[in-house]
Amino acid sequence: MTQSPATVVVVEDEPVIAEAVAARLRADGHRVEVAADGLEGVELCRRTRPDLVVLDLMLPGIDGYEVCRRVQAERPVPVLMLTARDDETDVVVGLRVGADDYLTKPFGARELSARVAALLRRAARTPEAGARLRLGEAELDPVTRTANRGGSPVHLTPTEFDLLARLAERPGAVLSREQLLADVWGWRDAGSTTRTVDTHVAAVRRKLGDGVVRTVHGVGYAGGAA
Ligand code: CA
Repeated sequence: MTQSPATVVVVEDEPVIAEAVAARLRADGHRVEVAADGLEGVELCRRTRPDLVVLDLMLPGIDGYEVCRRVQAERPVPVLMLTARDDETDVVVGLRVGADDYLTKPFGARELSARVAALLRRAARTPEAGARLRLGEAELDPVTRTANRGGSPVHLTPTEFDLLARLAERPGAVLSREQLLADVWGWRDAGSTTRTVDTHVAAVRRKLGDGVVRTVHGVGYAGGAA
């Protein structure tokens, strides 16, 4: 698998972790810029227009949630959030404000590389021109990666877009949470993380209406009727 070098912004106030993350991502061939607090991180994203942001949750000044909100509001970009502990609330809130994935500290360098590669692969997927996908009241344009509901534009995070696009590609097909994790998030071993899928489904329903995704109890999810 070849992967072109990406620009990655790392927002992390602990110098040892920031250095380790930056060193690993540079070794993977990426261009890496580091910010030590939230405001600097937002400014760095504005300036460098990164392909991915690695974002610590607990930061001096504005925290990772607020950084994520501000960055996503300006220009959607995949965000890998770093959390200090395996606290479900942190993760759920993080995903709600537009993070695409998260890593709990301490994490290994290989896991970091794998998660970053999976997020970049997803973002790089180029769909066929012209095709529009419909789900419930929603319409997705895979080329511009935009969505609208009844003609009005709706902002989706990159992960929310990919989740809906995956469901729309196979109308009526029921996909398990594990399958969606593998296809959309690129995770091989879903383990106990299938709640991530539920959180994202809830988010897209809030934005695009309940009809956009159908719950198939005991199985998983299917795209809503067009
Ligand atoms: Ca921190």
